[in-house]
Amino acid sequence: MAKVKYYYDSETLSYRKIERKKRTTIKFAMLFVLASALFGFLFVFIASQYIESPKERALKRELANLELQYKLINKRVDNAFAVLESVEERDNAIYRLYFEANPIPSEQRRAGFGGINRYKKYEGYDNSKLIIESNKRLDLLQKAIVVQSKSLDEIVVLAEDKEEFLSAIPAIQPVKNEDLKHMASGYGYRTDPFTKVRKFHFGMDFTAPRGTPVYASGDGVILRADNNASGYGKHIRIDHGHGYMSLYAHLYKYNVRSNQKVKRGDLIGFVGSTGRSEAPHLHYEVFKDGERINPINFYYGNLSADEYARLLEKASLENQSLD
Ligand SMILES: [Zn+2]
Repeated sequence: MAKVKYYYDSETLSYRKIERKKRTTIKFAMLFVLASALFGFLFVFIASQYIESPKERALKRELANLELQYKLINKRVDNAFAVLESVEERDNAIYRLYFEANPIPSEQRRAGFGGINRYKKYEGYDNSKLIIESNKRLDLLQKAIVVQSKSLDEIVVLAEDKEEFLSAIPAIQPVKNEDLKHMASGYGYRTDPFTKVRKFHFGMDFTAPRGTPVYASGDGVILRADNNASGYGKHIRIDHGHGYMSLYAHLYKYNVRSNQKVKRGDLIGFVGSTGRSEAPHLHYEVFKDGERINPINFYYGNLSADEYARLLEKASLENQSLD
């Protein structure tokens, strides 16, 4: 029960009861509620500045974890850079060198991005620096990989060209000559078998029985296979491209037609003695840019160093050619 309050009335000289109006009571109650709510809010607000809520603690943990993950990812980017660097080194020092392409300078491999600031959208946050640096490194890595990949594409093309070149040049002997006994006369001054005069012999003679297979010494296209050149008799010319041509003379028979494509080692004809020839043999010539050159310089295709030395010795003997 509420206390009954009195006051002293000086006029009547008596105590009178304080009558409380109902409205005033409600007003007081509302004021009380408002004040306590305000105080409560104020307390929570001030407290929150100093005391972490469980949710805040969880968020902070998550943030710290994210930062850690960023750092770990940056470590892995460093590792990727190290692997890429060793590929780049090999690319410059071996692949590009081997195929005579200029090495790619490191300024080009590590060129950044000019012009507009690509990282503006990451600015203005507490960890902007971490995010921007990480993105920069990833972009740099991505760009370096693109440069390296383009370099390898270039190498592939150069390697294919080189392979084509290596299989085109006349690099094997045109007849089977395993014991090297078939080499009869080399390139240089020799005695003419008919006139007995010393004159320049522009090819190599391989003695072999009539009908012995003759092989293309490199990939190419048959330029001609006919009997329309004085002295050579039935002969074949192969255009190998890159300025090289090979010629096979005094044949008994052809196995190819003009414009036919041939591969190194293909059977193109058979040894004979047609044209200006003393006995069955193959007269073989190699042309470079229209000039006849010494075929012996091209037999690295299927000879060991020792065999080559023996062949060189035999080929340099100034004997009588078979023409
Ligand atoms: Zn000859």
